Amino acid sequence: MRILSDLHTHTVFSHGKGTPEENVIAAIKSGLSRIAISEHGPGQLAYGVSFSRLLSLRHEIDRLNRVYQRDITVLMGLEANLTGSGFCDIPKDTSIFDMLAIGFHRTSMPRDIHGISMFFQGIGIGKDPKGNAQRMIRTMERFPFAFITHPGRYIKMDMGLLSKAAAKLNVALEINTSSLSMTDDEVLLAAKNGAFFVVNSDAHTPDRVGDFEAGLVLIKRLGISSLVINDSIAKHKFGELLSYRHSALFGKPK
Ligand SMILES: [Zn+2]
Ligand SMILES: [Zn+2]
Repeated sequence: MRILSDLHTHTVFSHGKGTPEENVIAAIKSGLSRIAISEHGPGQLAYGVSFSRLLSLRHEIDRLNRVYQRDITVLMGLEANLTGSGFCDIPKDTSIFDMLAIGFHRTSMPRDIHGISMFFQGIGIGKDPKGNAQRMIRTMERFPFAFITHPGRYIKMDMGLLSKAAAKLNVALEINTSSLSMTDDEVLLAAKNGAFFVVNSDAHTPDRVGDFEAGLVLIKRLGISSLVINDSIAKHKFGELLSYRHSALFGKPK
């Protein structure tokens, strides 16, 4: 199998080292047909990106699509932060994004008491995997995410609960090759529950764009290649997911 899309990369717009153009050139060199620049949402206190910076990034991505249109498609993503039960830090105007993802990060501004609980768990105080999964699910029900970034990294999530909801809501689980966040058992449980997976590099430097190695090893070992939505033979599945999510983005959150 060959992964043709890297949907989770960072640049100097947050705490990455390369420019969006350097990521795009690296993706073309790796033979990818799609790359997303998915920066951290503005609620991330350490390296979240403000709405005005995100607007500049949108303009830059539009320019890159004009320059490199024969070689690759560049998408504007967002790695939104889970900040509460049903809450995240997506800007009000979502029309600038092609795709949304969500993950939990330790230094996000909590939005409610659930966000405060997760904040403390992120620094090692307390454990509530069931509650965390429910908080993520409530948020997935309100916003049209394409995938969850590194599920279970920083705070544990009940993967049984989360994967059932992800399957129902058509949200993929990320196999993040910079840090494999799910155990083999969790991946197999998610697969049994009908979830799909997306393999991304989470590159913070251009040289890691398209580095899927750790994910490919895991997929082969667990025999889940038919459940990966961004590989060469499953392009149609990804296309459907993206167009569904894309159209949903322009509706009002429930
Ligand atoms: Zn992340
Ligand atoms: Zn990331």
